[in-house]
Amino acid sequence: MNHDWHAASHGQQLGRRRTPAIALAVILACSVTTLAQNAGEPTAGDAGMRRPRIYPPVVLTERGLRVHRAGLLIDGHNDLPWQIREKANFSLDRLDIAVLQPSVQTDLPRLRRGGVSGQFWVVYVDPGTERAGTATAEALAQFDLIHRMIERYDDLELALTADDVERIHADGKIASLIGVEGGHMIQNSLDTLREFHRRGARYMGLTHSENTDWADSATDEPEHGGLTPFGEQVVREMNRLGMLVDIAHVSADTMRDALRVSTAPVIASHSSAYSVARHVRNVPDDVLGMIKRNRGVVMINFFSGYSHPVGAEAMSNYFETERALKARYPEEAAFRKAWRAWKDAHPIPAGTAHVLVDHIDHIVRVAGIDCVGLGSDYDGAGRMPQNMEDVAGYPYLTQALLDRGYNERDIHKIMGGNILRALRAAEAQATTLSGKAPTEQKSQ
Ligand SMILES: [Zn+2]
Repeated sequence: MNHDWHAASHGQQLGRRRTPAIALAVILACSVTTLAQNAGEPTAGDAGMRRPRIYPPVVLTERGLRVHRAGLLIDGHNDLPWQIREKANFSLDRLDIAVLQPSVQTDLPRLRRGGVSGQFWVVYVDPGTERAGTATAEALAQFDLIHRMIERYDDLELALTADDVERIHADGKIASLIGVEGGHMIQNSLDTLREFHRRGARYMGLTHSENTDWADSATDEPEHGGLTPFGEQVVREMNRLGMLVDIAHVSADTMRDALRVSTAPVIASHSSAYSVARHVRNVPDDVLGMIKRNRGVVMINFFSGYSHPVGAEAMSNYFETERALKARYPEEAAFRKAWRAWKDAHPIPAGTAHVLVDHIDHIVRVAGIDCVGLGSDYDGAGRMPQNMEDVAGYPYLTQALLDRGYNERDIHKIMGGNILRALRAAEAQATTLSGKAPTEQKSQ
């Protein structure tokens, strides 16, 4: 989820904590590098911003649809539960996904059209809830909402294992997995981590947009240089439980530490390649090399603000600009006017499925075909690629992969085979470690 963009669009951005000054310095330095490295690519010729290569529009074919339908598609990240909380006060009567719901990007009719076989539904609450002491309680309410949703609709069934996913898919239903977006929700307690696992969580992101006491985020000032000793303990406990460690949103140093410590495959549930779109949220090449050795999976984020090179530039300067405008316009109304004008002048281009294939191509080149998957971020972000504005759009990505020369077997690995293999490996590692007692230390 990219709540930053969402929150800002609703004028709720004022409570942000700290200035990620170092991250911004890196971004500014990288912008200069970007110009140099893209001299040979088509550009607009004026702003000098990185542009994607030009590809023809994606046209769905019979073959594309057939290949898509023959695969098992598991998406790593969907924030519909957050939307149900925010738009409908947790009520599935008010936001009934059995019918088309234009106010969100996800409902059952469109999941079916998109050919989704498995979905990680996301438990998310704002990182600020950790300081307020309400993070765990609010997270449990999101777990409850997801369980109520799965129980309410016959099309959905809870999946706790890779075998469950395959069985539920064979029954014609959508396998519903649960992921937790941010370690702040355990509030420094391994007991709570275990409770999340009991309630069905099969991955947890180590941070969201702010540092925890034990792990650095990509979009906060570095405090720990990656993971603290307790952070390493969290990773080991996740290995013992069979929960996948998720490195979306964490700093590159936290990614490296997690990959060093974890004895099971690590995933990025909704992240793309930094070399293609230079946002600090995306995965750098040396980490892709570690992912290859770890047999992990980077599940690409569809949000154009992270995937489109120009969108990533717009998002990179977002916080810096906001702070500068606030300093310049102390009056709220004047600030809002200037902020709106800046956003209008820095739109995020949608792009097409080919932008996403650029990320897949790069990850395949660096980490291999077994290490890439899909983590759309639907209902957690803003602008999505053309024809892929909602969960009905996945077949366009399959078509673009075919158009770019991918064969059916490899497409099916990307769609779901790779994450299923990683989940199975995490389960096997948990079985290996099952003789070990739960870690008793509660926090650092
Ligand atoms: Zn996110």
